[in-house]
This record gives sequence, C-alpha cells and structure tokens, in this order.
Amino acid sequence: MWPTLTLLALLAAGVCYVGLRRCRAEAEAERERQQREFESLYQQHEQARARELAQQQALFNSMSEGVLVLDGEGRVRLVNQALERLFGVTGDLRGRTVMEALRLHQVQELVNQTLLKGQVDDFELELPGLDGNRSLQVNSAVVLGADGRQQGMILVCHDLTRLKQLENTRREFVANVSHELRTPLSMIKGYVETLIDGAKDKPEVAMKFLQTIEKHADRLTYLIEDLLAISRLESGQIVMNLQRTEPRGVVERVISDLETKAAAKPTRLVNEVPAELAANADADRLQQVLFNLVDNAIKYGRPGGSVVLRARRNDRKQLELSVQDDGPGIPPEAQNRIFERFYRVDKARSRDAGGTGLGLAIVKHIVQSHSGAVWVESVPGQGATFFFTLPDISGGL
Ligand code: ADP
Repeated sequence: MWPTLTLLALLAAGVCYVGLRRCRAEAEAERERQQREFESLYQQHEQARARELAQQQALFNSMSEGVLVLDGEGRVRLVNQALERLFGVTGDLRGRTVMEALRLHQVQELVNQTLLKGQVDDFELELPGLDGNRSLQVNSAVVLGADGRQQGMILVCHDLTRLKQLENTRREFVANVSHELRTPLSMIKGYVETLIDGAKDKPEVAMKFLQTIEKHADRLTYLIEDLLAISRLESGQIVMNLQRTEPRGVVERVISDLETKAAAKPTRLVNEVPAELAANADADRLQQVLFNLVDNAIKYGRPGGSVVLRARRNDRKQLELSVQDDGPGIPPEAQNRIFERFYRVDKARSRDAGGTGLGLAIVKHIVQSHSGAVWVESVPGQGATFFFTLPDISGGL
C-alpha cells in the first residue's frame, strides 16, 4: 500500500512540477512578447519623433528670417541656417551665451532690453560685411512658461540690406533727376531774364541767347523722353515684340537717321553687317539700341573719324553686334559704370553734346530684355567698341 501511495504522490508532484514549468515558460514567453511589443512601439514613437523633429528643423531652416532661441539662462538653445548665414557663424552654438556665439555687443544690448521690457520691436542692427554693411531688423520677445515665469527668449532677424539698397538707389535717382531738370531750367531762366533786362535790343547777342535757350529746351525734351523710356522699360509696360529681324536693314535705318549729325562732325558711318544674319528681336527696340550707340560714337568720337558696325554669329547661338569708333575711348575704371543711370565720364562734355546720361542704361535694359549682354572694350586713346548679343536665328528658329 505504502509503495503505491508514494508512487502516486511522486507522480502528482511530477505532474505539478511539469505544469508549473510550463506555466512559467508561458509567462516568460508572454513577458518577452510584451517586451518586444513595447520595444517596437517605443521605436515607432522614437522614429515618429525624429521625423517630426527633422520636419521642424527643415521648416526652421527653410525660413528666410534668422531665428535664435535662448534658454532661461540666456544660452543658445536653437539657431537656424538663415541666422548662421546672416551673422557668418558656423559650428554648434548650442549652450553658448549670446556674446560667445555672435560676438556682438549690440545683440547683447538687445537681449538686455528684451529682459527689461518683455518685447522689443524693429531693433536696427548694422553688421559689417566684406561686400558692405548688412542691415538687419530684429524683433525679440521673452518666452513665458505656463506658470508665467520667463523660460527663454526668441529673436527673429529680417535682412533689410536689399530693401535699403533699393531705397538708396531710388533716392539717388530722384536727386539726379531733379538736378538734371534744374540745370537746363535755370539756364533758360537766366538767359530769358538777361534778354528782358535789355539784351533783346542787341540783335547780335539776342540771337545767341535764343539759340542757347533752344539748346537747353531740347535737352529737357531728351531728358524727359529718356526718363519715360526708362520708366516704361522698368515697369514692364514695353513688351518686346520678338520676331525675325535682320540687323543689316536696321543699321541702314539708323545710319540714315543720323546722317546729318554725322556729316556735321564729320564722321564716316560704315555698315559691315552681313545681310544673311537674323536675330529674334524687337526691330524698333534694336533700332533704339543701335541709335544710342551710334549717336554716342559720333558725339564722343573724333572729328574726321569713322564708326563701323559689324555683326557675327558666336558659338552660343547668339548674334554679336558691335559699334566701333576711333575716338578717345573710355578709361578702364569707367567701363562698367557707364551703363549706370546718369554716370558720365566727362559731365560737361556729355551735357554740351546734349547727353542725358541715360542712353546706355536704356541700351542695357533693352538688350537684357532680349536675354542678351552688353559690354564695352576700349583702350584709352584708341577708340571704344560696344558689343551686345541677341538670340541668333540666322539658320531659322
Ligand atoms: P550720355 O547721354 O551722357 O551720352 P550715355 O548713357 O549714353 O549718356 O553714356 C554714358 C557715358 O559714357 C557718356 O557720358 C560718356 O562719358 C561715355 N561714353 C558713351 N559712349 C562713348 C564712346 N563711344 N566714347 C567715349 N565715351 C563714351
């Protein structure tokens, strides 16, 4: 009996042991499954967080405004690429103070003001740069937590350099125009007053004065015409009527328009443009370009000299047209500047010749509207050659 009972008890204990082990193994497997599930969820969460962070960083970096975020201790927490570009800083700036990161007392001053006032708008910052000063406008504000305590600060910087340059150009242009208009007007007024005061009774001086008045009135007319042309070109009011245009014919018309002026100098005008060449161009605008260049070549060329017009196809599917004179030429330092509005090498000479200082600016505008380029080559004392390019369609479109 006892052996049987013992056997049964052993059997029961064995069954219990096996059952217990199975239970433990199942529990272990379940725990591992849960662990894997947790790890996979955690990984997914981390990946989503990393994606979100990358998106935020990309957004932050794509902003044109420079952004700087400071923590509660005034140390850099975040900067975007625009800010690094604006201030010319590189490397990891996080954890540094503003002075360590940007090395600018003005920014530290702005941070101090913001801490005092809570917010500063339109703070003007001038940064010295290699290509001139940069003008920034900065808005800053402290960042408050849910408990109303200061947690940091955000600074947003707008680059106003281009805007300021445009504003300066506009101001300079207005000042130049006023000056250019005032000069002939005061001359006209002066001569008229002299005539009224008695010169009208002396026929020999009266005629001279009247001719001078006429010359200045003409200058005013040219100036206003050129100003209108520039304004129409710049505002896009003049749409280029691009069509097959043969430059040789256009050159012929320009030569005939300037024949009298050339004969008076005298200057010989020579058309060497091959008849078979054709450009995709607005014929009237091309005539205006050539007129200005030939008119200048006569004005600034030497009496008894010649002006030669040529054209050739270059290897970039362009027609390269040129106007060459044998006058005094243009000094190297002025060769780029003569295309600016109102820039003249010799002011008195230009005015005396009826120049407005706008002819080459108009030329440049028209050529660029044809996707072309204009430039001058000149050795002082040996004449000047103006070149410009137009789309070449001599062999068809
Ligand atoms: P302007 O009405 O004074 O002629 P432009 O814009 O046509 O104005 O030309 C600008 C300046 O470029 C002129 O004032 C002159 O000093 C210089 N210039 C232009 N063409 C020539 C040339 N062929 N030879 C010498 N100087 C020239």
